Amino acid sequence: MGAERPDGILLGLDLGGTQVKAARFSPSGEREAVARVDSPSHESPEAVLGAVLAALRALLPGGASPAGVGIGVAGVLDLKEGRIIESPNLPVLSGFPLRERLQSALGGAPLRLLNDANAAALGEFHAGAGRPFESMVLLTLGTGIGGAIVLGGKLWEGAAGIAGEAGHMCVQAGGPECTCGARGCLEACVSGWALTRDARAAAARNPASAIASLAEITPKRLADLALGGDAEARALWERAGEMLGTGIASLMNLLNPEAIVLAGGLVQAGDLLLGPARRAWERQAFERARASAQVLPAALGEWAGVRGAVQPFLS
Ligand SMILES: [Zn+2]
Repeated sequence: MGAERPDGILLGLDLGGTQVKAARFSPSGEREAVARVDSPSHESPEAVLGAVLAALRALLPGGASPAGVGIGVAGVLDLKEGRIIESPNLPVLSGFPLRERLQSALGGAPLRLLNDANAAALGEFHAGAGRPFESMVLLTLGTGIGGAIVLGGKLWEGAAGIAGEAGHMCVQAGGPECTCGARGCLEACVSGWALTRDARAAAARNPASAIASLAEITPKRLADLALGGDAEARALWERAGEMLGTGIASLMNLLNPEAIVLAGGLVQAGDLLLGPARRAWERQAFERARASAQVLPAALGEWAGVRGAVQPFLS
């Protein structure tokens, strides 16, 4: 794709439920400038389109036409048609022909849509923590849990573009209900929303507890409580970590990747989460699978998806 206009400007964009982040890249993938606008995710498809165009145009020197535009979006995408089938963070875009509309607004520039976790994985693999490796699984541990798989240097999107949904691997048969309708998914046991749900339940059981006295229950505040020695908060992280380690052990045994890269806000809980996770994967994964896999923090932070979105134009 990039071969058509190899000297041109590349634009990457991460279309999220709260923000639209974009960056301009050189033909060799160096980031040159960034832009950020609020995402009108609940207004209308036209309002979202306007925000995306505003972010992209802010990065284009007067009248220039981009050689390639890559866009990462959370949700289930029809990659062939360039449509969003369903996006939990951007419900107004369901069924919206995003690629077609953007392409006509941008004078026909080559445009690629990617799942946001796949975009982040391409960013980390080519320019971040995954650079030394041939195979990598990315897990994004935030409010929800996303995932993506790179095998033999290539993103594995699966037969219908669904591959990598590690958040919806079952780690506890019959466990808590998930946003997807199934039970016991990794996301239903470990994510920001799952921790918050469990903390609310703990507070209801024990109204005199430190958790119940929090003005607002967030993973960050639960981590602070746990670090301060609160046993109930520590138990929540211990349980979540064990479930995360169970999921990681399955990924190690199934794919035997060289690296499992962890991104997202929950990683900041550090050993509160990763200590019990490590104990679980050391117990559950095949020795040869875990000995050959490095579990690493992501390196590009919130810009991984924006960088990864332009990768299809670089390789
Ligand atoms: Zn699920």
